[in-house]
Amino acid sequence: MRLHAIRHIFFSTENPRATLTRMSWWKRTKPVDDGVKPDMPLIRLEGISKVFKGDADEETWALCDITLDIGRGEYISVSGPSGCGKSTFLSLLAMLDTPTRGRYFLNGRAVDALSPAEKARLRNIEIGLIFQSFNLIADMTVYENVEYPLTLRNVTPADRKGRVETALDRVGLTTRAKQRPGQLSGGHQQLVAIARAIAGRPPILLADEPTGNLDSKAGDALMDMLGELHADGATLCLATHNPNYIARAHRHIYLFDGKLSPQPVAEL
Ligand code: ADP
Repeated sequence: MRLHAIRHIFFSTENPRATLTRMSWWKRTKPVDDGVKPDMPLIRLEGISKVFKGDADEETWALCDITLDIGRGEYISVSGPSGCGKSTFLSLLAMLDTPTRGRYFLNGRAVDALSPAEKARLRNIEIGLIFQSFNLIADMTVYENVEYPLTLRNVTPADRKGRVETALDRVGLTTRAKQRPGQLSGGHQQLVAIARAIAGRPPILLADEPTGNLDSKAGDALMDMLGELHADGATLCLATHNPNYIARAHRHIYLFDGKLSPQPVAEL
């Protein structure tokens, strides 16, 4: 993945130093933006639908009329059969995609009112993405990949160093800091993406099948780490098929054909 292809995920036009002075560790006492409605939960989805149109103009309703609140500090699982809309759901929460219908409020702010640059800035500060497509930058070392979003936020070099080293240590990749993604296994690349997500200490973590490329021992270790991050105050939204990992969440969201389902629906 080339730099320009993922820069939009993290890039922000506002002076990030000003934003940083308003930040604390996982628990934020003051929202990043002005105009936040304090009566709203961290995340509110109102009638969200996402329709994809195919070549022959056929429609796929990846998500259909999702209305949902997610409170600060929740630990939520998102599960359902393949194709039920889990990835689309997380992409919308991450502001990487826009709904066809409905409204999304993050920290009480209507996301549809934000410019792409504002969305990118919010994403960089508020959301840690642990997605299946790693979006690692091939030309950068492991260390540089983890450091990159912090650079865009003008985190000081000394602070960056501390954060990157801590994140790499947490995922057990300190000795691989100088390697490039292409020299790593899929599992290790996944860990780099996780280190990058947690180095920014975002209050929201969105994880899409984060253990998909890991063996069971490494998967359990990763889930333990996500549990610790949640205990530290992060809001965690985890899409997974694994019943043991679903059971770790405190609230369960089930999707079937893009709709919320009150109970799990078995894979066909
Ligand atoms: P899951 O993550 O649960 O497997 P997805 O969110 O990936 O489900 O997909 C939900 C539905 O939307 C599927 O039918 C999938 O084929 C379709 N879909 C997802 N992304 C696109 C896209 N970019 N273009 C067209 N259809 C898509």
